[in-house]
Amino acid sequence: MNIHEYQAKGLLRDFGLPVGQGEIILTPDAADQAAAALPGPLWVVKAQIHAGGRGKGHFRETAAGLGGGVRLARSATEAADIARQMLGQTLVTAQTGAAGRKVGRVYLEAGADIAHEFYLALLIDRQTSRISYVCSTEGGMDIETVAAETPEKVISFSVDPAAGYQPWHGRRIAFALGLTGAQVKECVDLAGKLYTAFTQCDMEMLEINPLVTDPAGHLRCLDAKIAFDNNALYRHPAIAALRDETEEDPKELVASKYDLNYIALDGTIGCMVNGAGLAMATMDIIKLYGAAPANFLDVGGGATAEKVTEAFKIITSDPNVQGILVNIFGGIMRCDIIAEGIIVAVQEVGLKVPLVVRLEGTNVELGKEIIRNSGLNVIPADDLADAAQKIVQAVKAG
Ligand code: ADP
Ligand code: MG
Repeated sequence: MNIHEYQAKGLLRDFGLPVGQGEIILTPDAADQAAAALPGPLWVVKAQIHAGGRGKGHFRETAAGLGGGVRLARSATEAADIARQMLGQTLVTAQTGAAGRKVGRVYLEAGADIAHEFYLALLIDRQTSRISYVCSTEGGMDIETVAAETPEKVISFSVDPAAGYQPWHGRRIAFALGLTGAQVKECVDLAGKLYTAFTQCDMEMLEINPLVTDPAGHLRCLDAKIAFDNNALYRHPAIAALRDETEEDPKELVASKYDLNYIALDGTIGCMVNGAGLAMATMDIIKLYGAAPANFLDVGGGATAEKVTEAFKIITSDPNVQGILVNIFGGIMRCDIIAEGIIVAVQEVGLKVPLVVRLEGTNVELGKEIIRNSGLNVIPADDLADAAQKIVQAVKAG
């Protein structure tokens, strides 16, 4: 789960990290009061979306002259004006895709006097299975370019989980960033607090870009991006409550309500499968026969007919879907349940694209019979390869 910058900063503040003063604006009429609550003389107006690259982004359509998603203002009135203009607009950044994201929240922040912008992140390194620090002197808005073109400027090392954070980790970062004197101590303190926040809150990623020094040399977190481990969210109800559902793919959101493992992809063949491994194999074999999957979907081991119906509705609501492949191996899952779910779903939402169904395992004959007797226009398949070939052919023919 991702959260907004202002929420991340609130969390980091609780761990004693240096973040600036700020006010969140949810409705246009809250803008003036929020701007007046900050001392000035510089205000920064920041669109809150779950995507980076806001500073270099642009607003789609209407907002001519509105600039990017991070704007400086020289007075409280100007700051409130910009915030009002941003609310409800669609911000397009390198990370949102062309469709962009609608801005529903704007963060007003005290402007910082920046001497230098650094990059500092903590993440779980899948290669070492450890928490790693990543840092660079080249922080700010182009870290992806730095990583691609001058990878030697990105320094990374992992932390031994048994020993945990040690001051020398912080010193290593400080020296990599070229910090000196009292800044080193500040960096050791900051890196340690970030580690504590990361582990205590079960984060997957914590990125401060930029981490800045002010003219007096003090460190401050100017941006903050946090992703949490969904599997650990049950331990943190206060963090789970920070979820902003408007930032999520509507199909994935519905799927999560029904406890379906669904990930939207950009192909044309919708897949409904039970078991993550079989779902992966199904996507692979669709590719093998020359098409691409529109989604990953694992309906789980013990799905009910209702769950199957919802899964089917999610697949058909995707306008890219030109054909559907149902691939079920009935173990705990019974094929007749799947068959009933499909029929209910088709009755509710209709079927405008070819549907290939491959059933195998528990109650397979019953399942096949239910589908045969339903009068639905279903293309039956015997095995995985047969099913994949049939759906790819049907989509190509249609
Ligand atoms: P994004 O990463 O989405 O572009 P950031 O929060 O990193 O958004 O902001 C982009 C840039 O705007 C920063 O690199 C920094 O130069 C500037 N900036 C952000 N917040 C402030 C602030 N409070 N004061 C001064 N400059 C800021
Ligand atoms: Mg940033």
